[in-house]
Amino acid sequence: RVNRADFLRALEEVHPAFGVSEEELQSAIQNGIIHYDSVVDELLRSGTLIVEQVRSSKRAPVVNVLLHGPPGSGKTTLAAAIAQASQFPFIKFITPDNMVGMGEQQKISAITKVFADSYKSPLSVVVVDNIERLIDWSPIGARFSKPVLQALLVLIGKRPPKDRRLLVIATTSNRPILMDLGFADFHSVLRVPPVTSLSALEAVIREVDLFPLEEDRRDAVRMLRDAGFDRKSRDDPSSRLQIGIKKLLSILEMARQEPDAVAEQLVTALMELDL
Ligand code: ATP
Ligand code: MG
Repeated sequence: RVNRADFLRALEEVHPAFGVSEEELQSAIQNGIIHYDSVVDELLRSGTLIVEQVRSSKRAPVVNVLLHGPPGSGKTTLAAAIAQASQFPFIKFITPDNMVGMGEQQKISAITKVFADSYKSPLSVVVVDNIERLIDWSPIGARFSKPVLQALLVLIGKRPPKDRRLLVIATTSNRPILMDLGFADFHSVLRVPPVTSLSALEAVIREVDLFPLEEDRRDAVRMLRDAGFDRKSRDDPSSRLQIGIKKLLSILEMARQEPDAVAEQLVTALMELDL
């Protein structure tokens, strides 16, 4: 006999195959998004517009967008934030982390299954995270998995069945390679930049509460300015600062471990990145 508890457990069990990958969404956005620069809000706003386009457009049953930017700039987190904000009933991640140890054919089956499952829902988001790692791209000898590449190229552009709409959010740290490999026609391409301005750095420092005393924070910012971590515009090439938010957050946490010399630790760590 199947009782209600069994039924609910069965629902739980199918959840990962059809529905929302809560675990991946949570792990991607649990630490929150820091609004350290207007570019963050612009990216989220673009994401919202794209989601609305998918929701309302009759003509474009599949919309694909590429988030690209240097390592650790926040691509996966932003993809997850955009996906979650959509509240679409189907949200799945295709990520290299879930495919460790899989052979080519297994990977292709897993990827194909996510897309096939997405076609069962009227509105879906599939995040194809870190494409270059999914295809095992290796700069040495420019090697990669052709079959996985082929599968992704086909699936990312494929029209879902009638009355189904799909948003594909792909991410990469290596846009030029992707272009070469044939991922040339995304509907939208959004760049996720590293942190490059002192004001953005200051916003992050403030957000993580690195300096309980405002005075200490101001001193630290002055030290950073004196060390040259300042610049005029977002694209000022003279900026010394070029750091993904992910790495920056870990540097701030390391500096925090030296309570007597937080600012010094910070400046030193950032200078070492420069070398
Ligand atoms: P990789 O190149 O290694 O794949 P990534 O570009 O995907 O890295 P994430 O894995 O998303 O970067 O890491 C970004 C980290 O920074 C996360 O821990 C996230 O919580 C944090 N974070 C803080 N603010 C932001 C923001 N505005 N945008 C994105 N991530 C942010
Ligand atoms: Mg990532």
